[in-house]
Amino acid sequence: MKLVLLGTGTPNAEPWASFPAYAVIHSGNVFLFDCGAGIVRACTSMFYKGVNELKPQNLTHLFLTHMHSDHTAGLAELILIPWVLERSDPLHVYGPAGVSEMAEHLLAAYRIDTDYRNDGPQPSNPTGHHVLPQIVTEGTVYNKNSVRIEAMRGSHGELESYAYRIEADGKRIVISGDTAPLESMKTFAEDADILVHEAEYAAGLQERSEGWQKYHQSIHTMSYDLAEIINGARPALTITTHRILHLNYYGESPVSMEEVRRREDALLAEIQSRTSLPVKNGYDQNIYEI
Ligand SMILES: [Zn+2]
Ligand SMILES: [Zn+2]
Repeated sequence: MKLVLLGTGTPNAEPWASFPAYAVIHSGNVFLFDCGAGIVRACTSMFYKGVNELKPQNLTHLFLTHMHSDHTAGLAELILIPWVLERSDPLHVYGPAGVSEMAEHLLAAYRIDTDYRNDGPQPSNPTGHHVLPQIVTEGTVYNKNSVRIEAMRGSHGELESYAYRIEADGKRIVISGDTAPLESMKTFAEDADILVHEAEYAAGLQERSEGWQKYHQSIHTMSYDLAEIINGARPALTITTHRILHLNYYGESPVSMEEVRRREDALLAEIQSRTSLPVKNGYDQNIYEI
């Protein structure tokens, strides 16, 4: 199995990290997790870097962790652009309640484009922009071609959210999605080969207002809490993503990359101070093979 980090960013629209998206590849089949804006170009960039599976025709299966816009704003792209590039298979979209309506409304919004491509002079196939939505609940959501994908409910405020575990050839990858720390993650990610988990910089949070502190604590996972999850689940490797650094991103001037790196290193150090198991910060275009 191969894991490609397509986007490791957050709603902060950091220029150095694309919106959240990950690809898991097994035997030529591509499984996308979350759909941040720019996902199709993120895939074609990796195709041009030698990940042959990530060409537009192969982008046919998407699993959404939740409906927040940083994780879903690329859905119109993923429905329409690969179709223009001659994908003839429909897009299977697995996600929480609301996923069917989102796809339906996006297709309605783009009707001028799809009608013209279907009925105008451009050669096109009649099926590649179709969407097959499937509502996710806890348990097995996909079991085909020796790949099994299971969902576990996350804790992200009032929002329905899921973590996914992908298993093939006795290997396991877990993707947390956005979630507050979960006791159940220790079992769900037990002995995983890779745990991709969101993380929040604890020292940075102390600088925020009381309201923001309360909000972030209730819906995201603090570095120290992630360390506790790692100690319980004992994955062979943990990769942080969706790192919330609590910078003042859009003040009078941009934050310096030195400060970004300093906080990322400090966040990693916070985790490593409470666990001796392997942890790395994940970055866009990282590839892991297991
Ligand atoms: Zn998010
Ligand atoms: Zn979220």
